[in-house]
Amino acid sequence: MLAVVQDAALSVNRYPDTSASDLRARIALANGVSVEEVAVGPGSVGVLQQILAALCEPGDEVVFAWRSFEAYPILATVAGAVPVHVPLTAAEGHDFAAMAAAVTGRTRVVIVCSPNNPTGVSVAEDELRTFIDEIPDHVLVVIDEAYVEYSTPGGVDSMAFFRDHSNVAVLRTFSKAYGLAGLRVGYAIAHVPVADGLRRTALPFGVSALAQLAAIASLNASVDMRVRVSQVVGERQRVRGLLVSAGWTIPESEANFLWIRAKDELRDAILRKLSDEGILVRGYPRDGVRITLADPATNDRVVEALGARRTFGGDR
Ligand SMILES: *Cc1c(COP(=O)(O)O)cnc(C)c1O
Repeated sequence: MLAVVQDAALSVNRYPDTSASDLRARIALANGVSVEEVAVGPGSVGVLQQILAALCEPGDEVVFAWRSFEAYPILATVAGAVPVHVPLTAAEGHDFAAMAAAVTGRTRVVIVCSPNNPTGVSVAEDELRTFIDEIPDHVLVVIDEAYVEYSTPGGVDSMAFFRDHSNVAVLRTFSKAYGLAGLRVGYAIAHVPVADGLRRTALPFGVSALAQLAAIASLNASVDMRVRVSQVVGERQRVRGLLVSAGWTIPESEANFLWIRAKDELRDAILRKLSDEGILVRGYPRDGVRITLADPATNDRVVEALGARRTFGGDR
């Protein structure tokens, strides 16, 4: 992988292939879709920005669960749309009944983040099917699968949803399990009218040659990715088990992080305790803490620093 990037670095005086045809062909092959159904961009955030900019007029609405990925309300607002936050269920998953009810005549896009960042919870196949069946055909349902490589095999088959519904698109990224966050490359699998529109409105040369080549090499080396992912998944189960035994409430995560719901006082106490140990995790105002899994020794330090839930007192 590094060799590919180093090699490509010798040609940085050249513009990249603006249609990213080799990468799109490789993505199409990996997902069993046609090249015309693939649009790439500078990160899947870049692709999502294009989708929202293309589909939303001022005052249109974009519906998503909350808490979820912080970029959603920002991108919706930048596109001139109104972000509609629908609270997660008590189990930290998507509340599909409430999301369907939030769809109005102004809704253009609904985003489903699975596994959800930052709670780690994946959507269930039957719930997603019922939900999509309720969404009008002119509303695009974007399934954001930034962390899908970490999820348990046999979960939601997003490609089947894509094939069965003309209003479903799937977002994927090379930033997470593939480890290319700094190179900025992600993609959408979308039906031809949407994918075509995305390609025509994309910033020319938006994905660098380095990123294109590294992404192709990553797909060719997905066996290595699987090995890294299975280590993370093993740690996820082990660490969650230890924390749950210590009295912490942690939803079953399908991503590379664990979620502790906490009001501000508890959240600050957790952040302080971990930061005293030199461990940095992500705090979310009013909502909680996301702990990204690391190597086993660091994970053990997290478990030890947190200790028993009761030593932290109530949740205020
Ligand atoms: C990280 C992330 C992305 C995209 O990241 P890019 O680096 O822009 O590809 C998209 N969605 C979610 C939920 C993420 O966590």
